[in-house]
Amino acid sequence: MVASTQFAHAAIVVGAKGDRQIAMKPCSDTSSRQTSLRKSVVVSGRGVHGDTPARLTLSPAEAGTGVVFVTRDGDEPIAAHWTNVRCTRLRTEIGSGAARVSTVEHLMAAFAGLGVDNALVEIDESEVPAVDGSALPFVAAIRDAGIARLRAARRVIKIVETVRVSDGASWAEFAPTNRRCLDLDVEIAFPGAIGHQRIALPLAPSIFAREIAPARSFGFLRDAEQLWRQGLALGASLENCVIFDGDRVLNPRGLRFPDEMARHKMLDVIGDLALAGAPIHGAFRSYRGGHGLNLALIERLMTTPSAYAPSKEAEGSAPRVRRLGLGLSP
Ligand SMILES: [Zn+2]
Repeated sequence: MVASTQFAHAAIVVGAKGDRQIAMKPCSDTSSRQTSLRKSVVVSGRGVHGDTPARLTLSPAEAGTGVVFVTRDGDEPIAAHWTNVRCTRLRTEIGSGAARVSTVEHLMAAFAGLGVDNALVEIDESEVPAVDGSALPFVAAIRDAGIARLRAARRVIKIVETVRVSDGASWAEFAPTNRRCLDLDVEIAFPGAIGHQRIALPLAPSIFAREIAPARSFGFLRDAEQLWRQGLALGASLENCVIFDGDRVLNPRGLRFPDEMARHKMLDVIGDLALAGAPIHGAFRSYRGGHGLNLALIERLMTTPSAYAPSKEAEGSAPRVRRLGLGLSP
């Protein structure tokens, strides 16, 4: 038995186990032209791991640029691309030469979720601000900049064969679909209050902004001291994380959605898959996934040429393929 709640354009269907599926009209990501920002906008804040203040400037970029991070003068620009991933532990870090930028996933999710193909991201530190722990402030900044449609054709990676990676009980896969967008289905399982949560939806800008972008990072008080000793989560607070103490949510205003944690995992998936180099048209599913599994799946896809059909533009600009060596089984 299912019950449904009508939203503006979508119905969230709640299954017997509390699974949530947003049943949509056909995908709206059918535009064949690339996009960028109309003007520069600034986002400032502290990093959730390093706790250092950073200032981001998001600016327009030409067609074919992708998203490129520029750190300090003299450092190499870093293309937001899976071949540049340097670390996937609790965040996604990219680098080129000596330059590094950490925790790019929520900003990348905002670009991908709103359909922005090209942008320059100047950052004066090595970690993207956590802002409120979600992608909502980045969505607001991108909407403030405005999205410009460019003349160049959009590149698309179309999944034509199933590929899968697993790590113990965790797994992630791409499978073909007839729809012209990314169909997402993410399931998480934690002991205690979070339990099993599952959310499924097609990636479309209005749905992303309303249903996924507001979902915040989450963590457990019991893990804090160990993470701090490792130099992680030094900037984590109730201002930028949902924090659980056992089964209790410590944030005074509670959760933004009953299944905010599954929605945040989907936000991370969207940000990580944005590193594939072009929008993906296909079905993505994961069970107890994370940044490492998401990136391993992209690597598996891009090193399995029979599994995808890139448009001619994507083929022409295919980057150097370098194995990440994440050590995950197929
Ligand atoms: Zn996240």
